[in-house]
Amino acid sequence: MKTKIIVRPTGPGRTPMITTALWYDYSHIARCKLRTRKCADGIRRPIKTRRYSKPVEDIDPIKYFRHRSVVSVDQAKFKKTGKNSHYIQCGVILSPARESGYSMCTHCSPGCESACLKSSGQLVFSTAKRARILRTRLFLFHRAKYLEYVGRDLAKLRRKAHALGKILVTRFDTLSDTNTLSIYRELMESNPLDGFVDYTKDPRKYQAYLSGSSAPNHHLTFSRSEINHCQARYFVAAGGTSTVVVRTQEALARCLAHGYDGFPAVDGTLSDRRWEDPRGHWVLLLALGKAKTDKSGFVVD
Ligand code: SF4
Repeated sequence: MKTKIIVRPTGPGRTPMITTALWYDYSHIARCKLRTRKCADGIRRPIKTRRYSKPVEDIDPIKYFRHRSVVSVDQAKFKKTGKNSHYIQCGVILSPARESGYSMCTHCSPGCESACLKSSGQLVFSTAKRARILRTRLFLFHRAKYLEYVGRDLAKLRRKAHALGKILVTRFDTLSDTNTLSIYRELMESNPLDGFVDYTKDPRKYQAYLSGSSAPNHHLTFSRSEINHCQARYFVAAGGTSTVVVRTQEALARCLAHGYDGFPAVDGTLSDRRWEDPRGHWVLLLALGKAKTDKSGFVVD
């Protein structure tokens, strides 16, 4: 802070009045390249930006999600499902593969790990990554609290969906592959009017689903990668459905017209309403993010 002498003229023929005023010296701002804005009094002041200085390991996930939502609704794919339909979709986004330091996809392949959806859309931002890791820590180390928060968020979304005359559909493994059949079983059975949809690369989990040991309102789709093609084909032949990721629109149109690997295919890019897919079909998905340049065989041409 500095003192500045101001000379104020007081009228013709009179001695100018000399006063002093305090003013703030922000000349250093230009040197350290802080972002500033001009305030109402004409002085430029630095913009206060929100910074997360704490490392993610030092944040208590229970406190973090006490007033934040564990269940997300603002993903592009969720919105697509809700468009012109009777459904509202939401999902839990945990950290895929080993992003959090813990393995959350037990059956992931090198190809799917590097081409995972975390590299697409808004999921690439550091704030999204931070929230995913904290959600994963809550899931792993505070399971009871995690399920309580999920129940709280779903109850809120269910009220909203019912007010609009719609059905709430939840995807618990949006970016992970956990044991949804047992972890959320109680939640699924206690809300029979809700729908639950997921994808998995775990053949035992999918076999259990096909043999009817999941809740009746739960739908599971197998997910093909470069290391489980035979299992995916087996499940399609057994009357299940399996996703296959194609690189281009041309490949998608070709597979829709002629099928893929001996079985017919449906377009899975239109929505996430997998329970509407006919059984014994491949579900075609289009490569997004890093998957567009995949060379492992996870994405087919
Ligand atoms: S299994 Fe799915 S969520 Fe996990 S790394 Fe592979 S693509 Fe991502």
